[in-house]
Amino acid sequence: MPPDSHNRPPVTAPDWQAPKSHRSPRVSHRSTAPTGRGRACRVPDCDLTISTNHGIFCNRHQMAYRRHGDPLQTGLEVAELAPFVRTVRRVIDRNKDRVSWPAIFARWDEAVGVCHAIEAEARAGKTYIRWRRQAAALIAEIAENVEASRVFELVAAVYLYAEIRPERFASDAGFNAEVLHVVRREAKAGRLFTVGAKSSISYRLLSGRVSTTAARFIIDALGNVSLAAARAETKRLKALEVKATEQRQAIAAIE
Ligand SMILES: [Zn+2]
Repeated sequence: MPPDSHNRPPVTAPDWQAPKSHRSPRVSHRSTAPTGRGRACRVPDCDLTISTNHGIFCNRHQMAYRRHGDPLQTGLEVAELAPFVRTVRRVIDRNKDRVSWPAIFARWDEAVGVCHAIEAEARAGKTYIRWRRQAAALIAEIAENVEASRVFELVAAVYLYAEIRPERFASDAGFNAEVLHVVRREAKAGRLFTVGAKSSISYRLLSGRVSTTAARFIIDALGNVSLAAARAETKRLKALEVKATEQRQAIAAIE
């Protein structure tokens, strides 16, 4: 299976995700779109205006786009993800004799090894791609702070969430960004500063390429197996539901 096809339910890909090179000249900024401040944000139903000359989103949606990969994506809260994490733990436990979990967690360790190699080669003076090296450094930092099994729990929880409530994710880009976001938060990797209460931790904004590459490292390593775990669990829940319905109907049929 190619790494990109994680076979989640189809999500809409808004036009702002289209690569620039694929845009028809008819709709390019230069020929038709006005530039300058005060234009309307491109997100439908957003009344705010754009405060930069060449942006396409208002400040709020631009920030969401940078932090969460999509102007309409919001961050998954710890408490919001918690029930899915607990479910993943139960899935692991239920399958502990049937599935070689260490082999699955080893896929993460391999990805981390690749990231260490990227850093080592760059230090040895080989040419490197700056954002790829930054993404590798972020993965290495995460791995220093979080166990492989915990990374898997979190990633699989996001996949399970998307199976159960796909509408919580604005797009594939939003989904990928949240995979990185939850793992990065757990690792406290790239934490910039803390202001007062624990909820006001702020993270260094990554460039789009660094975030998508770091998310890619995680998803390539753990995406397929996370999806399989999420699918197996939703199938099991559905089967339980069917059984309960059948039992209710059987009871109702008794005269
Ligand atoms: Zn907006």
